Amino acid sequence: MSDFVAEEEFDYEEVYRRGGHNCGDEDFALFKCPFCDRVYMIEYEVDTAYLDGRDLTKRCSVFNCSFDCLGCCRPIPNDRPWIGKNATADFQVTREQLANSDWAWCVPRLREKKPRA
Ligand SMILES: [Zn+2]
Repeated sequence: MSDFVAEEEFDYEEVYRRGGHNCGDEDFALFKCPFCDRVYMIEYEVDTAYLDGRDLTKRCSVFNCSFDCLGCCRPIPNDRPWIGKNATADFQVTREQLANSDWAWCVPRLREKKPRA
């Protein structure tokens, strides 16, 4: 089993509850900065990056372009896919990285670390 977070695990309702609506038909995924491992969410129907897990109004368009990482100030390389099955490992987010990021809430299984009954 992969240690990376799968897209199916995403809690869309929780994203919407936190104000994550974009332009409709939202498709969310996670990626990280390959240099400093800062985690970001992307809405890839309209190519929008969500920059802050605590404030979903902080976004930028990544349509045919990239942005400078808020963690290390380096431009996120966009010469290869960030998400999907062709994304390279340096962009993929592991469970542990997600659990330690501001985005841990978006995957219920990480949010509720209850012992099994
Ligand atoms: Zn970075």
